[in-house]
Amino acid sequence: MMSIIKIILGFICCLSFAMGVKASEREISVIPKPHSVVIQSGEFQFNANTLIVLHDHSEAYQKIATALSDRFIKSAGFSLKIKSSPDTVYTRNAIIFKNKAGMVDEAYQLEVNTDCITVFSSSPKGAFYALQTIYQLLPPQIFGQKQKNVKWSVPCVKIDDKPQFSYRGMHLDVCLHFFTVDEIKRYLDLMAMHKLNVFHWHLTEDQGWRIEIKKYPRLTEFGSIRKETVIGTHKSGFYDGTPYGGFYTQEEIKEIVNYAADRFITIIPEIEMPGHALAAIACYPHLSCGLEEKYEVATRWGIFPQVFCPKAETFEFLEDVLTEVMELFPSKYIHIGGDECPKSSWKKCRHCQNLIKILGLKDEFELQSFFIQRIEKFINEKGRQIIGWDEILQGGLAPNATVMSWLGEEGGIKAAQQHHDVIMCPHTKYYLDYYQADPNKELLAMGHLVTLQEVYDYSPVPEVLSDEEKVYIKGIQGCVWTEYMPNFKRVEYMAYPRACAISETAWTQEKNKNWKDFTSRLEKHFERLDQMGVNYCKTFNDVQIFTHKDGPYSNIVTMKVDAPDAIIHYTIDGTTPGIHSPVYSRPFVINKSVLIRATAFKKNKQIGKETQSKFN
Ligand SMILES: [Zn+2]
Repeated sequence: MMSIIKIILGFICCLSFAMGVKASEREISVIPKPHSVVIQSGEFQFNANTLIVLHDHSEAYQKIATALSDRFIKSAGFSLKIKSSPDTVYTRNAIIFKNKAGMVDEAYQLEVNTDCITVFSSSPKGAFYALQTIYQLLPPQIFGQKQKNVKWSVPCVKIDDKPQFSYRGMHLDVCLHFFTVDEIKRYLDLMAMHKLNVFHWHLTEDQGWRIEIKKYPRLTEFGSIRKETVIGTHKSGFYDGTPYGGFYTQEEIKEIVNYAADRFITIIPEIEMPGHALAAIACYPHLSCGLEEKYEVATRWGIFPQVFCPKAETFEFLEDVLTEVMELFPSKYIHIGGDECPKSSWKKCRHCQNLIKILGLKDEFELQSFFIQRIEKFINEKGRQIIGWDEILQGGLAPNATVMSWLGEEGGIKAAQQHHDVIMCPHTKYYLDYYQADPNKELLAMGHLVTLQEVYDYSPVPEVLSDEEKVYIKGIQGCVWTEYMPNFKRVEYMAYPRACAISETAWTQEKNKNWKDFTSRLEKHFERLDQMGVNYCKTFNDVQIFTHKDGPYSNIVTMKVDAPDAIIHYTIDGTTPGIHSPVYSRPFVINKSVLIRATAFKKNKQIGKETQSKFN
């Protein structure tokens, strides 16, 4: 008897689960996926009489309301009136922001019915994220820059949402290539849309110093310019012979910090040390170990042995720089780099070797640790904390440091086991300068292939950690190094849609993630990115062909397409693949020279470009 009840109960559960998924797929396509969504019948329609009602009329809420109204002016041609009157009860044609004590900091609840929309949150942050969800519930034209005549409706729905991680980051390197204030703002807009809340701004490098420091004007006067740039990879030997540079004034930085704050994004500035310091050393050679006669801002990519020498003048310089940096950036965290610091100069430097002896250090790795700990002490004294790349573990971790684990997961695991906070950004998953599609067809990029699905499927909390240690994984970050991104269009192309996948891992609970469900929402999401004119990578509908060598004369061929419910048709006889060509259903063997041609179709209509792969 019990087993029959269990079967019936199981059936009901399955049925309701299946219906729930189906409804959400049909009606809403929010990225990152909200914690809980209950779709109801009917819709709320915005019009020129819709009111925005604020129960808390503090500046933060006013800004959120103004942003919503401005969005409607731009895309719908009408504004929404803002009322700050908690006493009057509005129940019709209004979007009402209410405070609800006790909710998690960034959480929100959203209730849409045919009469009104009610947003509950305990802080403006939650209200802001509710607003991002509302935008994605509206037609994609709400993201457009031109007025459109569409039905501005939102489906009736109850959403209960909160983030998985408190640190949801995107990094941008502006040193290898430089991007304008407006481009940085656009980067922040895209982050906010995806509920990402930390912008890691990589401001100094061997190839250029990009932040104005009043006390050391040479840093931007000379350090922001390289005399030329390598063409192709760092070893090519070809240079363009054209000076390249750019930097942000302190006024511009303040403007960007405020812009980010309005979007609840914290900017973590990165000042690289002790390595990746050649641009600074080129301006102030006394900061180096003094082994060379001349120092120049680097003109090719890579790692350079000219690093900061740990002497009094260097610490004075860095403390001065960090003082100005901390005045500009209110962030609790300051990134001090710490990565890729070759020890060859320190090995040859008399001062460095003496210092190792005086301090009783074992080697240059411990000297690096001494360097970082000394800087940490200074930053801690100002009430701030340091973040550094994996290598700050070398020679012993600074007492209060947060580790950004990029080399793999090992650094993050080690740090979490030592009870230090960790941000996961393993290069094999979250370095968005790596190829995302067939390297033979893409423009030059870094590393190897990291597909959208590999990014999506990555689970950032290593299983080897105990439950107690797992809480130290504070979040994740996508990293955008710009060696091969000479313009912002290219940045958008490399970052999106992979950053959409990262946002979902950052915001959505692991158990609610599902690749197929993500791809069906992403299809709709592309319409939003199109409205914004984002130059995202469009290989989503193209077939990917992979081969696995299986003996000297044979290959196993597998094919895949990201678009959900697509059918792959292919040929090996040289003809153009069409709906009557064979359907790819499982991997097969190729043991002769052929040209594979494959195309994805949906409802018998071609959806992507044809992919070809030649086997010899
Ligand atoms: Zn030295």
